[in-house]
Amino acid sequence: MPILPNQNRRHFVTSLMGGSLAAMAAGGVSATEGRADSQTAQGVAPDDPVMHYWNRPLSELVDIGPYTAPAEEMERHRVYANLVLALLHGYFNGNKDGDTGDYPWRSSQRIAGSGTQSLYAGGRYLGHNICCVAVDGDGDIIDFDFNHNSIFNSSVEHAEARLIKRIFSLSDIHQDWDSAVGADDRWNLSSSAEKAPMKGQMDDDYGRSLSNVTIYTSLESCAQCSGIMTLANIKQVVFLQPDPSQYMIGKIMYRLSRPVGQEGGPGAPRPISATEVGIETTARLDHDYKTFQAAVGTGLGKTPFYKPPGSDNDPAQWSGGKSITGFLCSDLAFADFRSGREALDAMTLAHADFRPEGQQMLTNMEVLSQARHFLNYALTEGRRGTPHR
Ligand SMILES: [Zn+2]
Repeated sequence: MPILPNQNRRHFVTSLMGGSLAAMAAGGVSATEGRADSQTAQGVAPDDPVMHYWNRPLSELVDIGPYTAPAEEMERHRVYANLVLALLHGYFNGNKDGDTGDYPWRSSQRIAGSGTQSLYAGGRYLGHNICCVAVDGDGDIIDFDFNHNSIFNSSVEHAEARLIKRIFSLSDIHQDWDSAVGADDRWNLSSSAEKAPMKGQMDDDYGRSLSNVTIYTSLESCAQCSGIMTLANIKQVVFLQPDPSQYMIGKIMYRLSRPVGQEGGPGAPRPISATEVGIETTARLDHDYKTFQAAVGTGLGKTPFYKPPGSDNDPAQWSGGKSITGFLCSDLAFADFRSGREALDAMTLAHADFRPEGQQMLTNMEVLSQARHFLNYALTEGRRGTPHR
């Protein structure tokens, strides 16, 4: 049903609802009274966490307490978190508003002596500089992905959502219909000597098949990605930069998706700030984003994000949005990503021989070695968003 020129959006919505709002108004019932009252939530069981938090302050709902883990495990987290930053550095793109023109926040990315085709490094903008990595219960890296909103002209092609869906697709070829194949947990799918790179950890219960998986993501997850990770029963999600625009949805879902007082187990993944595992870059990213927000703009004394070609004397054409995705194109963010790459390259381990309980668990040294190999493989053999050609 198109919105006709003489209709506004409210008319459109009420007509879709069969005029129910109008009917309520005509019957003397306000829309507010039509909802569940303030004391009970209709259809919600008394022991549901929703009822526990129903009349409590939001601050209590989002308080998930500090993340605690032994120093040995914190060290493992830091390896994967630095890998995410290193991938962002390696696959950085920044021409968010076009391939030509001026990006005053990206002067270090300017290509010296470039012509008119591309003045800044990074080439065609595929999506925002947001990346994530999935790690299985043994510490093996499964795969990585990036935000690809721009290449799909979509606002939902987020890194975490794309990665979870791909892992489910990959896992589908590991159904245990032939026990002989499972001898080393890998499928031999072709005549080449190489076996499929995915480990066969999946079982028939797809709802729990990723419950040992940890996601390391560069930006605090949105409602969509928190939802997809919850449906996938992802164990935990470590994020490198807080996103104040996402209304703490990950924490809210963590609390509401499991019994009151319970930590871990089925439900939304626990959001863990990388600050809590000792990544200093997280505080720097947050600080640099605030610096960007305070200074970006098109007004007097502000620095625009982008100036189209030939618009030097026409500020009306400039863009100065304070969006976090604009910040993620800036020299500030690029330097922060590079520091993660440098940290991964230079990393020394205090707990190199630590191996969590479990036969196939990798030691911290094996984790670091694999992260470095994965980075090299992804950057030399892969493409942005997939380690595979
Ligand atoms: Zn998302």
